[in-house]
Amino acid sequence: MQNKFFITTTLPYVNDKPHLGFALEIIQADIIARYHVLMGDEVVFNFGTDEHGVKIYRKAQEQGKDTQAYVDEYAAKFDALKKGLNLSYTNFIRTSDPKHKAAAQEFWKICEKNGDIYKQIYKVKYCVGCELEKTDSELLDGKCPIHPNMAIENIEEENYFFRWSKHQKPLLDFYTANPDFVIPDFRFNEIKKFVEGGLKDFSISRLKTKMPWGIPVPGDDAQVMYVWFDALINYVSTLGWPSDEKRFTEFWGTRDKRNAVQIAGKDNLRQQSAMWQGMLLSAGLPLSKHIIIHGFINSGGQKMSKSLGNVIDPFEVVEKFGTDALRYWVAKEANTFEDSDFTWDKFKESYNADLANGLGNLTSRITKMAATNLTEPVSILVDTIPDSFKAAIEVFDIKKAAGIVWAEISTLDLLIQETKPFALAKTDPAKAKDIIKNLVIRLYNIGRMLNPILPETSETIKTLIQENKFPEKPLFPRID
Ligand SMILES: [Zn+2]
Repeated sequence: MQNKFFITTTLPYVNDKPHLGFALEIIQADIIARYHVLMGDEVVFNFGTDEHGVKIYRKAQEQGKDTQAYVDEYAAKFDALKKGLNLSYTNFIRTSDPKHKAAAQEFWKICEKNGDIYKQIYKVKYCVGCELEKTDSELLDGKCPIHPNMAIENIEEENYFFRWSKHQKPLLDFYTANPDFVIPDFRFNEIKKFVEGGLKDFSISRLKTKMPWGIPVPGDDAQVMYVWFDALINYVSTLGWPSDEKRFTEFWGTRDKRNAVQIAGKDNLRQQSAMWQGMLLSAGLPLSKHIIIHGFINSGGQKMSKSLGNVIDPFEVVEKFGTDALRYWVAKEANTFEDSDFTWDKFKESYNADLANGLGNLTSRITKMAATNLTEPVSILVDTIPDSFKAAIEVFDIKKAAGIVWAEISTLDLLIQETKPFALAKTDPAKAKDIIKNLVIRLYNIGRMLNPILPETSETIKTLIQENKFPEKPLFPRID
């Protein structure tokens, strides 16, 4: 039976502008998803938009727009990324979708039935920018350090709470039994420490009078679900839970064979690996298989910010140098798990070295030698992707996998230098042909490894080899 693979990103807030960190997350997920397609798996790759909450409601009001029309407009912008970044996601879930709403309400009812939802006075300082509660120690001069221009709101109302505290021990037991649950290790240690420190029940609803834009709480018309509780459920609603049990079980997995891979930024560690898992425990559903946590992207050693003028727009990279140039940067230059740094100078330097010279130049040289010296295309009998490359992607180490591709590129460069097939063609054409055929086969395999990373370039290499042609123009023109 065909293996089933499920991967999901987090859902960006619908009115955020897609930034480089977001592009990193979705390109990483895309590389992993495409790799599994290449391996013959049936893949569900989920992405979408988080559309509820006070922030969106107020923005729509400010612009005098109907809230649904407002989120429709933004969701369409996000879905357009598919083309811009050459993404292969199969599902685009929106939390305002009626099916998602029904799933969230069903999820709520199960948790309630299991005794994990109760009502209590909720008194808290709240940042609407973050859509998160803030403790005094998290505030700077009474303001959120991330949103210094927004006032901290004091909320005091009766809300529903999720009994997170009840799931502390089961969560810790689960962590112990699954030592590769959160990747990388240092993030896993971080969340273990947090959960060991005790779990505080959290509020999962808001008064409808104050926040009309949300999913109604089942059985209480005065309350709507709080954004996190609602949004996290997308990971199962996208698979048709609770109505399509077969599809859900196939892709999400079972208790004995967990299958769901989730990727998220380090600011989402707590939500994905502890809050959401606690919710799954409460609902009696299998937990996720892996939570992969990536870092942030800085620019020139500093956090990107409008005031510093160092914000990098991923679409500027795509417009200037192409989608594969951005995907290359994410895979090979960015750190897969730790923070990364982007500057235009460093980008140009690595682009010239690895794409213009490395991959682009090698492809031109080999295909040109082949077209000149071979009368017909080299027939590729076996499609060999090295085990080391597979092993790296199986543990989600994209940077390591990309490193293996570029090491092979360097090896072939060296091999051409040493064997000089273009010169040999004049003195010993038979031997030259053998060397060239071997180079073509190895280039083909580079193309196969690039299939998940640089899908367009991979296809170009394959076509050139199959037609025994060489590119008329450089694949990656040099940047000055
Ligand atoms: Zn904030």
